[in-house]
Formats: sequence, structure tokens, C-alpha cells
Amino acid sequence: MRMVIIGSGIAGVSFAEKYRSLCKDAEITLVTKETDGYYSRPLLSRGFSKDDIERSIVLKTFDKLSESPINMISGVEITAIDRDKKTVAYEINGQQKSLPYDKLILAQGSSAFIPPPFRASSDLFFCLNSLIDLKKMRQFRQTFLDRGLNPHWAIIGGGLIGCEVASDLAVSGDKVTLFHAMDRLMERQLANEDSVLLQNVLENTGINVLLNQNVQKFIRQDDKFCVLTEETSQFDGLIVSCGFKPRTELADAAGLDIGRGIKVNQYLQTSDEAIYALGDVAELPNGKLYAFILPIRNQANWLAGFMTGQEQSPWAAPVFSTKAKVHGFEANHPYTL
Ligand SMILES: Cc1cc2nc3c(=O)[nH]c(=O)nc-3n(C[C@H](O)[C@H](O)[C@H](O)COP(=O)(O)OP(=O)(O)OC[C@H]3O[C@@H](n4cnc5c(N)ncnc54)[C@H](O)[C@@H]3O)c2cc1C
Repeated sequence: MRMVIIGSGIAGVSFAEKYRSLCKDAEITLVTKETDGYYSRPLLSRGFSKDDIERSIVLKTFDKLSESPINMISGVEITAIDRDKKTVAYEINGQQKSLPYDKLILAQGSSAFIPPPFRASSDLFFCLNSLIDLKKMRQFRQTFLDRGLNPHWAIIGGGLIGCEVASDLAVSGDKVTLFHAMDRLMERQLANEDSVLLQNVLENTGINVLLNQNVQKFIRQDDKFCVLTEETSQFDGLIVSCGFKPRTELADAAGLDIGRGIKVNQYLQTSDEAIYALGDVAELPNGKLYAFILPIRNQANWLAGFMTGQEQSPWAAPVFSTKAKVHGFEANHPYTL
């Protein structure tokens, strides 16, 4: 059995490891764009208050995964799936390669969602979605710290990640202004009372929280970056945090059924029976994306069991909850997921 997995996030790596433990003779190949190893994505939002984050965030090196043994191909992007030939294509050192599979696992995760009005000025702002993003932001921030300054950031989006990043930058000494379109923070996850509590906690950390904001665009003025609402305000750095977008392009180009994510049945199988999807990229028949660590790990373990004949019943989402990693904040009510 030639098992090819695309993506080295929790979905791809957990599946690869579990499948390896259940099927000793399979040929498992994991292809990823990443070069830094398998890391904890949730820890990205603690990326400013922890000095050693670039090392401590890595859960397993790719060399360690190779020992499992899993054949690791890193720093490489899969560019096409040929469903008739059952191959995936990639380029390495200027050479086109193709990799054959018997079963293909799509675990490409998600990128940051950029609202259409901001797309033309994507060179003016950061998003925090990967370790590469975090490294870029830390380097940029360091240019201020080296001059004995703390930057003033504008964060666009008061959802879970926007609030977490705002909190971490503020406790690290930076000035932060948080622009949110709605009339309360994290309105999709929190009860009204907890949104108010969260706002108080952020404001007590020195964050300027602006609600009901219609951010129209960004412009650059010399070394400053401006946010245009009804007014224009200047900042040293901008961060857009407006949700996530499953990476469906590859599956779409291969003719698989796509909705918000890659559509799968209750067995995590796509519209091609040789191809499965899990993690942030997968959309279940109930229309849900289970974009959290606990259900994704559960999907990975279940799928490995299913593919080795140890699970027969369909995947069912486990009961789980989440928490915003905002310094000093505890919600009084359970989050809505
Ligand atoms: C800042 C932040 C904080 C978060 N905090 C929490 C939290 O506290 N709790 C929680 O439960 N969840 C949290 N999440 C969500 C959670 O991290 C994600 O749901 C989870 O990591 C998704 O895992 P994944 O494996 O599906 O995708 P990803 O982690 O996105 O991994 C996908 C991988 O596929 C690779 N890839 C994509 N396309 C290709 C291609 N064509 N070729 C090769 N490689 C490719 C990517 O480079 C990436 O390595 C957070 C997310 C972020 C961004």
C-alpha cells in the first residue's frame, strides 16, 4: 500500500504516525511545504511573550518523523493531483516529479482569510497563520526593539486569534489597537457577558478596543501604515485576523466536490474513493469544519483505524470545548463551536 499524505500539520502528522503504528509494511510518504518541522500551531499566538518560541514550538523534527519510518519530502508544494494515473505532482530543484499513490490523504489545512477589499494591499499587513508568518513578524518587531522602541500595532478582527495576538503583543510591551466590525468581541464563540469581560481584560492590558469598525483599506505613509475607517489612523504595523480559508484549490482543480472545504462523507472520504481529507480542509456532511486540535487528532486516529479495518462505524465528532489563550481571561460560560 502506497500512502501519500499532503500536509505536516496535526492532521497529516497524527494520521501518518497512527497509520504507521497500525500498518508496519505500508509505504508512507508525507509531503509538506514546511521546512521547520512539525510544530504546534496554537502556540503561534503566544509567539511574542515567549523568547524561545521559534525552538520550543517545534514538536517533532522531520528527521525524527523519518525514523518512524515515514518518508518525508519537505519544502515542497504539491501542485496537481492526477486522479486517473493516481499520482501527485511537485517540483524540486527545477525538476518536475510525480509520486504514485494507492491512497491519498489531503491534510493541507487552511490559510488566513483576507477580506476582498484588503487583497490588493496584502504587502502592507501581516497574518499569523504559520511559523514562517511568526518569524517575519518577530523580525519586524525586533527592528523596533533594537532601537529601544515598542511598535504600535493595529489588529483587524476581534475573533479568537485577533484577541489572542492582541493580548500577547500587549503583555510583551507593545501598543495595540484592536478594530472589530461587530458590537462585541468573539461574538460567535462567547456569551455577551463574557465578551464584555474579555474587553475589560484586554483594555486593562492597555489595548485600545474599537467596536463597530468598518475598516475600508490600508495605505502606507512613509514608514507608517494607515487604517482607513471614517477616520485615518497611523500605526507601525498591521495584522489582519479575519478568519481562515480551507486550502481547497488543489482538490478543486482535480475535480473533487468542494464546498467551504473539501467535501467528505462520514468516513472522511472525498468524492474520489481513493482520496480522503481531514483537518481544517475537510467539510463534513453536516456542513461543519472541525478546525480545532482535539477533533482533528480524533479524525486522524479514527481514519488510520478505519483504513486498517479496525474501525467500522462512521467518524463521529467527539465532545470538545475550546478556550481563548488571552492572558488573564477565563470565560464564565462554555464557548459556542
Ligand atoms: C494562531 C492560531 C492559534 C490557534 N489556537 C488554537 C487553539 O488554542 N486550540 C485549537 O484547538 N485550535 C487552535 N487553532 C486551530 C488549529 O491550530 C488548527 O485547526 C490545526 O492546526 C489545523 O491542522 P491541519 O493539520 O488541518 O492544518 P495545518 O496546521 O494548516 O497544516 C497543513 C499543512 O499542509 C501544508 N500544505 C498545504 N498545502 C500544501 C501543498 N499543496 N503541498 C505541500 N504542503 C502543503 C501546509 O504548509 C501545512 O504544513 C489555532 C490556529 C492558529 C492559526
